Amino acid sequence: MKKILVVEDNEDNRRILVYRLRKIGEFEIIEAQNGVEAIEMTERHIPDLIFMDLKMPVMDGWEATKRIRQTDVGSRVAIIALTAQAMAGDEQKALAIGCDDYLAKPVVDPELVRTKLERLLNKYEASEAVLH
Ligand SMILES: [Mg+2]
Repeated sequence: MKKILVVEDNEDNRRILVYRLRKIGEFEIIEAQNGVEAIEMTERHIPDLIFMDLKMPVMDGWEATKRIRQTDVGSRVAIIALTAQAMAGDEQKALAIGCDDYLAKPVVDPELVRTKLERLLNKYEASEAVLH
């Protein structure tokens, strides 16, 4: 079963996304509320994909993504940035720091989530197969 880490400090946004994911498929879903927790959980649980909110207390998603990308696990995990619609330009910046894709909050379109998930889970599965 694919493991997905949802990193988001806002409880409502986190619940909405987890609810969507449960509708889309059978995933093991784990949650974190800031960048420090995200790094710890990534190392401990080795998720296949991370949804990363960018604006969070303690450590934001920008810093957490950069640090995760520097680790061994970080080269094998897909990261989708969760962006606020008001923050123009964050999408391109997120890609520039190592996110694979982005999704605007609130996440209301299940088909969009499904499409992005399928593409990225396949992409990283393929690169893993090359390594083995
Ligand atoms: Mg936030």
